[in-house]
Amino acid sequence: MCGIVGYIGKRDAYPIIIKGLQRLEYRGYDSAGVALYNDNEIHLCKTKGKVSDLKEKAKTDISTEGKLGIGHTRWATHGVPNDVNSHPHYSNSGDLVIIHNGIIENYESIKKELKNRGYTFKSDTDTEVLVNLIEDVQKNEDVKLGKAVQIALNQTVGAYAIAVFSRKKPKEIIVARLGSPLAIGVGEDEYFIASDASPFIEYTSNAIYLEDGEMAVVRTHKPLKILKIKDDSLVAPYIQELQLNLEQIEKGGYEHFMLKEIFEQPQAIKDTFRGRMLEKEGMIKMAGMDEHMNKFLNAKRIVIVACGTSWHAGLVAEYIFEELVRLPVEVEYASEFRYRNPVLEKDDVVIAISQSGETADTMAAMKLAKENGAFVFGVCNVVGSSISREADAGAYTHAGPEIGVASTKAFTTQITVLTLIALKMAYEKGKISKSDFHMHLQELDRIPEKVEKALKYNDHIEKVADKFKDAPNFLYLGRGFNFPVALEGALKLKEISYIHAEGYPAAEMKHGPIALIDEQMPVLVIATRKGHYEKIISNIQEIKSRKGKIIAVVTEGDEQVKDLADYVIEVPETMDSMSPLLTTIPLQLLSYHIAVLLGKNVDQPRNLAKAVTVE
Ligand code: GLU
Repeated sequence: MCGIVGYIGKRDAYPIIIKGLQRLEYRGYDSAGVALYNDNEIHLCKTKGKVSDLKEKAKTDISTEGKLGIGHTRWATHGVPNDVNSHPHYSNSGDLVIIHNGIIENYESIKKELKNRGYTFKSDTDTEVLVNLIEDVQKNEDVKLGKAVQIALNQTVGAYAIAVFSRKKPKEIIVARLGSPLAIGVGEDEYFIASDASPFIEYTSNAIYLEDGEMAVVRTHKPLKILKIKDDSLVAPYIQELQLNLEQIEKGGYEHFMLKEIFEQPQAIKDTFRGRMLEKEGMIKMAGMDEHMNKFLNAKRIVIVACGTSWHAGLVAEYIFEELVRLPVEVEYASEFRYRNPVLEKDDVVIAISQSGETADTMAAMKLAKENGAFVFGVCNVVGSSISREADAGAYTHAGPEIGVASTKAFTTQITVLTLIALKMAYEKGKISKSDFHMHLQELDRIPEKVEKALKYNDHIEKVADKFKDAPNFLYLGRGFNFPVALEGALKLKEISYIHAEGYPAAEMKHGPIALIDEQMPVLVIATRKGHYEKIISNIQEIKSRKGKIIAVVTEGDEQVKDLADYVIEVPETMDSMSPLLTTIPLQLLSYHIAVLLGKNVDQPRNLAKAVTVE
């Protein structure tokens, strides 16, 4: 995920691009760059850091004149954030420049072919491969740039929003989209290109949102040409009138980043397993794991270190690893682990989980594990972060930037990565059969669609939130795979609504918390049909006998719990080990709506920081 901006027309492109990039900085922020056409030359400037760093650098490094240009804020997926990996990228001849948002999954095989044909690469990005593929097509087939882009894109697998222009034909910008957003602002003899409409809202209210699989040839003094990438066929442009204000656009029309991120989960989970879960071939490919497979196969134990929500993802993983891989797993608070004298063996695999990759305690725990000879595997969202660099190997979650302080999509994508690791280990160690492995892959593939369905209960959840917003306390209960989800649900509520909440394994309730239950106490129970269904029904009866108010998260179509609970929220059916990916959704939405109804600052709750870089 990143921000892209382009301009072609009668105004100076540079100030429009810079301002646009600043507005898009929420989409990605590890580096920025711009390429302008002026005086028969491309003037390119890029740097690691923020758009403000780019502005400083451009002052001295390039001429910022020109009526055509493209700009990018990067959120790295391939290659650490540094100056060289920043966009735009040149083709080998220096004639073409590209900006790209997304991932070209088959970039390695294309790169190999291009290398055989003499192409060289400066960066580690998938993007530089694409621009050279376009150049190669154009050279070999002697076609216009638009056609070359179309042919090249048909050879790629993955997701993209791109903008490309050529020094040789500086009157057009070619754009295309598949899986990443791209809007075109239509002015008078001028066009604006951007990931969303915020960069051009003050210039025009006419916008075309490209559909997936469409590309456009954007030229001055000529009408816009929109084509299908697949077969070149023309598409009639559909111009929409923008009604939104700037703030609303940046949040994609959502009121808060947290809500936007909750709703992004189907896509984020897909992005996490994209290119890794090869369902047809029946395999899981994860570079960081594949290169160190012997460590995973020889592991006698898995130790997970993390903090906060990531620790909860670790707890879910404990159940998954034990179930699938049959290995002992320990899940440790990083802050405790680092100051204990933990017993570590060289055959231990230590998994460090952190959204930001900068969590100070997790970093210290990881260093301690390394010093003790353990193999450390990082699971982070932010590419190039400290933990991802320090770990022996790792896997990114590819969830895209998470802006809301309360973690949502980071949690579900961490569980997704950890599920992939467990499945791969189980399969390679012969702990699950081929057919069982396939069944798991198929179900994981269906999860984004099921999350989408779970999100449809949003309005209903808002009504439930309204009933309970004034409760001073909350209890969350779950069993098995859903016990950590109960902990996470309680944490979400505490974080953003400041209501005291506790998560418990449902059966543990009678060893203490049951004393708290009276008619004032709302108890959220995760009671999906798989797992310990009958047992949890008994727990619900126990709460009911003490007049507690029950909100139950149930499997679609459930009748039994419906009769007992005061409110039910449904989630689609799935296998037990994957249910946390669904049961988490209503809990996130419930805490979100309660906080909104209470007028709290949802995206920046008091006393909290997004990345906890201090002990
Ligand atoms: N895959 C590209 C890269 O890592 C683009 C990432 C983005 O969307 O910012 O450079």
